[in-house]
Amino acid sequence: MPVHLEITRIKEWSINMKNAKGPIEVNNKFFCCSHLLILISIFFFSCSNSSNDAIPVAIIDDNVEKIVYELNLRIHIMKDITMIHPTGLRMNSWVTPGNVTKTIVPEINAIWKQADIQWIIESIIEEDVVKGDTYEESIAFIANTHRDSEGRSDPARLPHLYSLMQPQYMSMADELGKNLFHIYFFPFIGNTSQGNAMSGFNYHSVVGTWSNKHNGGGVPEKTLLAENHNSFVRGSLSRTISHELGHVLNLHHNECDFNCLMGSNGYLLTTQQKLE
Ligand SMILES: [Zn+2]
Repeated sequence: MPVHLEITRIKEWSINMKNAKGPIEVNNKFFCCSHLLILISIFFFSCSNSSNDAIPVAIIDDNVEKIVYELNLRIHIMKDITMIHPTGLRMNSWVTPGNVTKTIVPEINAIWKQADIQWIIESIIEEDVVKGDTYEESIAFIANTHRDSEGRSDPARLPHLYSLMQPQYMSMADELGKNLFHIYFFPFIGNTSQGNAMSGFNYHSVVGTWSNKHNGGGVPEKTLLAENHNSFVRGSLSRTISHELGHVLNLHHNECDFNCLMGSNGYLLTTQQKLE
């Protein structure tokens, strides 16, 4: 495992998304209130089967006296897209940047705190989907995909989802393997599917803001932004994102028994997963 060491200035995190449509700059209170931080970048894991090795930032904060790994998140809210479900429901983009900053990312951080990981919003991009020659075919395909008889979601929908992403907002070749993680909010990503880490697409991970997983493939409903950790009912968008980010960090399913983030209905990581 390679180990890199570098001192980084605080302001170097934010990337100026000059060409983004409606980027949001976010102040981070953790850093605003800390007068002196030594940021040491290290590799703390290496995904042998991943082309997207992350470089998290370990923070030694005089005030808190603990180390938190800060990972940068670029949120893409996919716009100018209406997906029509086979039931006739028209599904649009509805999550706002305010939902992301006020509810979703705080909830993701509440979940990932157990592993001393803090997700920092690098930018929120309200991004029009790419409308190439295959656009109509792609969104129809996605809206009609189902899990197979063994419960596996259809991998054939993934290149269609990827084809809708604007290349200029993806990680560039020199950004792959760096501390930059992507979550794309699409209206819908397939029947009974709520998220996919997109391992074969440089981890440009996707989630659906409409889902019919909770009703077994019925009429999709808007996903909940967050849900009480003590009473898992539907599974929230924040929980799904947290789960997919676990995959991006090389965690796998079925490594714990109860209330598991990497299982189907929980929030906890195992001691081993926290160390990984
Ligand atoms: Zn999973």
